[in-house]
Amino acid sequence: MTEIWKYQGPIFDAHTHIGEPNTLDKMVQIGREFGITAQVGIVHSREGLKATQDLYPGRFVFAKYLFLKDIAHFNIDPIIDDIYRTKEEGYSLTKTWFGPRWRDYIEGVPEGFRIDDMRLDPIFQAVEDTSLPLIIHIADPDTYFTLHYQDPKYGTKDENLAQLENVIERHPRAIFQIPHFGAQPEIHRLPNLGRWLERFPNIILDTASSRWMARELSKDVTKAREFLKKYADRILFGTDVSSNKSDAEYYRGRYLAQRILWETKDRNTPLPFEDADTKDTGGTFINGLNLPLSVLRKLYWQNAIKLYGNPE
Ligand SMILES: [Zn+2]
Repeated sequence: MTEIWKYQGPIFDAHTHIGEPNTLDKMVQIGREFGITAQVGIVHSREGLKATQDLYPGRFVFAKYLFLKDIAHFNIDPIIDDIYRTKEEGYSLTKTWFGPRWRDYIEGVPEGFRIDDMRLDPIFQAVEDTSLPLIIHIADPDTYFTLHYQDPKYGTKDENLAQLENVIERHPRAIFQIPHFGAQPEIHRLPNLGRWLERFPNIILDTASSRWMARELSKDVTKAREFLKKYADRILFGTDVSSNKSDAEYYRGRYLAQRILWETKDRNTPLPFEDADTKDTGGTFINGLNLPLSVLRKLYWQNAIKLYGNPE
């Protein structure tokens, strides 16, 4: 498979999820088909972590998932302890998820909860003090706000983004990996994302969600390509594949979609799997950005190695 690609080197997938031990094989196998030799694994199961360490030594950098339930209720002490124990428990970084619908999964979230609430500030201070990166997911695609988040409890996308911006502003030495292109791959949002990158040297983006990246960045190849070139040092390749979701063709499709997007000159290539957000409005098509090799090397490998080291 890899011989058809412009880039022939190793790839670091900076955003994957590790579930139960019996689900790991397929994820690693398919990753290898696409040149993935190292990956950040966000751990969702203790047994999965143990199995991954035993079966695939030298492949993974582990991210510890911080409990939303405690965060939602401002129960910050266990979270801070967790952050301080990151290294000794075999992890290299932490992860939190604030997709707006997280409110639906946790009981009794206080009304008007914000991540920039000062009661949570000691958590971000711990991230800063330990110098260990935090993957922090905020907001979601514009399409979700149109399709799923009409209820005012979710806030607007701009409101969600502004909360993260306040947090970053208060913690100039904390290392934040903001997934999904900072939740701003939509072409009209790139200027704001560029402003973030200029203002905050401590943030780095990842390209997780092949569907979201392909759908939005394909809409204006010139602007997208310029952005990738300009901020080539600040973007990590990532897919968001999850070992628990095991449909092999779906895995392949996600790697395939991004490699087409970053490396080729293809035009109007259908996304290799269904995009629920556009299936009723014509579908999602990929226009390749044909990035220079020097940019691909940074995106696929060098930026992640600088931040996380080579796990091998
Ligand atoms: Zn993810």
